[in-house]
Amino acid sequence: MIGCDCAVCRSTDPRDKRTRTSALIEVTTADTSAAFAGAVRSILVDTSTDLRAQALAYRVNRVDAILFTHSHADHIMGLDDVRRYNVLQRTALPCFADPQTATDLRKTFHYIFNPPAQGGGGIPQISLFEVGGAFTLGGVEIVPVPLLHGHRPILGFRVGTFAYLTDCSRIPDTSWPLLAGVRTLVLDALRDKPHPTHFSVAEAVDVVARLAPERTYLTHMTHDLGHEATCARLPAGVELAYDGLLLDIER
Ligand SMILES: [Zn+2]
Ligand SMILES: [Zn+2]
Ligand SMILES: [Zn+2]
Repeated sequence: MIGCDCAVCRSTDPRDKRTRTSALIEVTTADTSAAFAGAVRSILVDTSTDLRAQALAYRVNRVDAILFTHSHADHIMGLDDVRRYNVLQRTALPCFADPQTATDLRKTFHYIFNPPAQGGGGIPQISLFEVGGAFTLGGVEIVPVPLLHGHRPILGFRVGTFAYLTDCSRIPDTSWPLLAGVRTLVLDALRDKPHPTHFSVAEAVDVVARLAPERTYLTHMTHDLGHEATCARLPAGVELAYDGLLLDIER
């Protein structure tokens, strides 16, 4: 946190150096055909404020599609930097969002959706799709999971046995069946103190107890939660995520 001297902000543990919440899903296959070379295989979840720094740090050299969870600033403000992927891949980027987030993206990034006559340094080329139910990208089924982030409906996403549920304070009754059988879970847990729009650690642990995934990684933490000390008191199978964390997921 800017201007904070707390123990976590001064920590030398690299896992305490956190940029904004985001994820990249890479679809791997034994198929080496030319057809697969052109397929969707790198799916970014949200375009965080730190997208450029994250892409450079973790060598994200390809993005074929973007899923948006919601339109809060920390999840969308890196969108301008995806124009580099337009150049690298010579194609527009398909983006998927719920109707509210799509409306907010068109407003916040009006220059992308209503481009000026002179493009200057370049404008992202985006094809924005509004999602209702499940859809397929690169041969992988993407299941949007409606969540509540305070009063605001947002989306989590399920891919195979993996679910990514950031920025939520409640899982609606109708969404629990969409999560049945999830084995690897990424779940919002802001801090210990309750918050109106995010799960606390205790609330997240309650979700884990009900869903019973094999492993859970908590995300979107504040500097209240140091990595090592928090992991030491979490139940078995639950730990904090960290920047650069890599997970192997079965389809
Ligand atoms: Zn701090
Ligand atoms: Zn949010
Ligand atoms: Zn957020």
